[in-house]
Amino acid sequence: MATPDEFSFTPQASIPDRLGRSGVIHTPHGDIATPAFIVVGTQATVKAVLPHAVAELGAQAVLANAYHLYLQPGADLVDEAGGVAAFMGWDGPTYTDSGGFQVLSQGAGFKKVLAMDTKGLASDDVIAPGKDRLALVDDEGVDFRSYRDGSKHRFTPEISMSIQHQLGADVMFAFDECTTLMNTRPYQERSLDRTYAWALRCLAEHRRLTDSRVGKPYQSLWGVVQGAQYEDLRRKAARDLAAADVDGQMFDGFGLGGALEKENLGTICRWINEELPVDKPRHLLGISEPEDLFVAVESGVDTFDCVNPSRTARNGRVYTDDGCYNVDTLPNKRSFTPLEAGCDCYTCTHHTRAYLHHLARAKELLFYTLMTIHNERFHVRLVDRIRASIETGEFQSFKAEFLGRYAARKSG
Ligand SMILES: [Zn+2]
Repeated sequence: MATPDEFSFTPQASIPDRLGRSGVIHTPHGDIATPAFIVVGTQATVKAVLPHAVAELGAQAVLANAYHLYLQPGADLVDEAGGVAAFMGWDGPTYTDSGGFQVLSQGAGFKKVLAMDTKGLASDDVIAPGKDRLALVDDEGVDFRSYRDGSKHRFTPEISMSIQHQLGADVMFAFDECTTLMNTRPYQERSLDRTYAWALRCLAEHRRLTDSRVGKPYQSLWGVVQGAQYEDLRRKAARDLAAADVDGQMFDGFGLGGALEKENLGTICRWINEELPVDKPRHLLGISEPEDLFVAVESGVDTFDCVNPSRTARNGRVYTDDGCYNVDTLPNKRSFTPLEAGCDCYTCTHHTRAYLHHLARAKELLFYTLMTIHNERFHVRLVDRIRASIETGEFQSFKAEFLGRYAARKSG
């Protein structure tokens, strides 16, 4: 029988007077040195990039999406293929998110961004029943319509666990209700109670599935901390999930979820991580920009995912230590230099800005591949450098140096 012994976290160096640390997450499919940037492969593919190249650019793990894979090709098919890693030909650890965010965001019309535009939206408008929306929440689960064909579906904690066990990732997340900053305080309280009840149901179903799926590697289950912008709610949610125990089954790690305003990111991560046990890993679900990585790491987050590097790459946006620029602009037409001087990625060691500019103008498919490789490598390498700075006791100086340079050019 698979046991939680196959999964563990070893904290290593820490940032003086802060919650941030380096460490290693041990999974049945390999170790993840943390802090780590987890590359997003929503549909069991990092868009436009070969799995071999994903590994070569330094990605330690890939995060796929339970909701998308449930709708297409179906979790049972992925199970038959041997799990999401085997199915996509990825030789390493994988994460799946619970599908909760994707399902609920259809009902709310909000985006998974740190800085939300709250103008023009009334409180609780986002979840009030009876409007033209694609998802409705009740205490048992969520009814939603497929974004693909409008067909009706229902997710419950048990269904999410069943899907995620079939997908077979090393890291799974409990099914939670993701609220927005527009919800009222009473709604946030009710929602938190619901998310906690769902967390216990996830633990029970996870235990049952772990015991019944004999011969499978252990899949870790991480509880998701909600509570919006309220300190007491965030702290209570973290304490409750840390103590949650169903017949000896506890959470193996934790996700920091929900809508956050960018300026409160560090504060909210700190509230949560002050309550969580130090010997279990923490993942920040969705992050937007490089400066957020420093804030999250300093506040005790171990892993993150972000779709920005690949999404913006396909639009021509290039991340560098000197801020971002768009390669599809006139100055790059005859620029025979790499996307970023000193970058060790395949794109920068083989191609010029002029070539990328040409591919963009010619609408060639290789453009997506080369751009994504650079942007993903930039984020992976940045987090690797953050990890190294923690281990040598130079986190604060590296943070000041990096952000100073990044912001200077960005605005200049
Ligand atoms: Zn590069």
